[in-house]
Amino acid sequence: MLLRHTPKEIGERKAVNINPAKTCQPVGAMYAALGIHGCLPHSHGSQGCCSYHRSALTRHYKEPISASTSSFTEGASVFGGQANLLQGINNIFSVYEPDVIAIHTTCLSETIGDDLPQIKKKAEQEGKIPEGKYVIGASTPSYQGSHVTGFSNMVKAMVDFSEKTDTKNGKVNIIPGWVEPSDMEEIKRMAKLTGVDTIMFPDTSGVLNGPMTGEYKMFPAGGTTIEELKSTGDSVGTLALGEWCSADAARTLDKKCKVPCKVLDIPFGLKATDRFVDTMRTVAGVSVSDELVYERGQLVDMLTDNHQWTYKKKVAIAGDPDHVIAMVEFLLTLGMEPVHVVTGTPGKKFEKRIKELTKDKDFEVNVKARGDLFLLHQWIKNEPVDLLICNTYGKYIARDEDVPLLRWGFPILDRQGHQYFPTVGYKGGLRLLEKILGLLLDRKDRDSSETKFELVL
Ligand code: SF4
Repeated sequence: MLLRHTPKEIGERKAVNINPAKTCQPVGAMYAALGIHGCLPHSHGSQGCCSYHRSALTRHYKEPISASTSSFTEGASVFGGQANLLQGINNIFSVYEPDVIAIHTTCLSETIGDDLPQIKKKAEQEGKIPEGKYVIGASTPSYQGSHVTGFSNMVKAMVDFSEKTDTKNGKVNIIPGWVEPSDMEEIKRMAKLTGVDTIMFPDTSGVLNGPMTGEYKMFPAGGTTIEELKSTGDSVGTLALGEWCSADAARTLDKKCKVPCKVLDIPFGLKATDRFVDTMRTVAGVSVSDELVYERGQLVDMLTDNHQWTYKKKVAIAGDPDHVIAMVEFLLTLGMEPVHVVTGTPGKKFEKRIKELTKDKDFEVNVKARGDLFLLHQWIKNEPVDLLICNTYGKYIARDEDVPLLRWGFPILDRQGHQYFPTVGYKGGLRLLEKILGLLLDRKDRDSSETKFELVL
């Protein structure tokens, strides 16, 4: 029992998080920046922060993550990091030749009070940013928000590129939120099937799930290009997937270039995917393609065929707000009961949304934003569940409480496949359901007595 000290009794606890269900802002900013083609993320802080953020992403995506750092030492910590950053910008453009440097701050540079826009202006004045190259920046202090906030802040910084001309480009911007590269590919595939011409930003497909070619490329072929980012200001609309990850950028673009936006849930599960497809159909003024209707039918068929295994099963779930909201809705579609729901990211809207989704159900739901895995574990001790859905850190609870674990979200450190196989859309819904059923039926096989052990369940 690795977590044997977790007590069943829940006491009042305000000042401390135990086993947080989140990580720090720059991790999200770094992931978002990798979704721009030819971009080098830059961490304005100490080397230790940058190493941690890179390794967190490397361990999840199983790819080398390139990023540079302002390498603060004692001097920069006292006098500010401007000199380091100016030197850094000069070195990075000379040595690595990226198209863009995407700078995010850290706790240290934020506490000192370094002013990124002012340093960027100085770099321009001193000719440190070559013609045709760009620097963008996002403020990402880790004592606020979470990795989700950092992701959102960097996506919002990408709106700096947008330009509005007199001619619309006929495209729809899709801001996919923090999803896997495989999910971004799947969202683009669904848009293509619907006949919608899109600009996705950020887009890590082809960056963090590319093939092994035998040749190292510091800047892989994928990612949103600068031309595409500029063109977002001429698009006919923006679909922002996820209130926490994507809405800020979409609203900023609307304000800057008058590109109307719609904020939707990330299309995990049947209903959220229906809303996404329906919105795309409306925006493009087309009918839903036969292929998508077929795929939807397959998902409906599979969830109907297997309802007896999922019905009334209790689930505990922890993850990022945009993910968890859509997943809770999918679990309800399956007849399951998400009784314990936690996100580490702050935001009371999260609790409200989960309560709205579960309000007519005949079970009580425990829900907490800015919660942690310690609390989730305590809830499970008080009301056991049939399934836990969490990132890799959930494995300790799953082992102690002997509950099947569906690894889903960020980070997944000890399993493979998330970069290659989507969980968004109808196809992704099939995969999620297959995984859930596999876990529940394996458990049934394991626990059945010899007289009840069936060849065919
Ligand atoms: S010091 Fe702040 S930015 Fe750096 S790793 Fe820690 S929480 Fe993240």
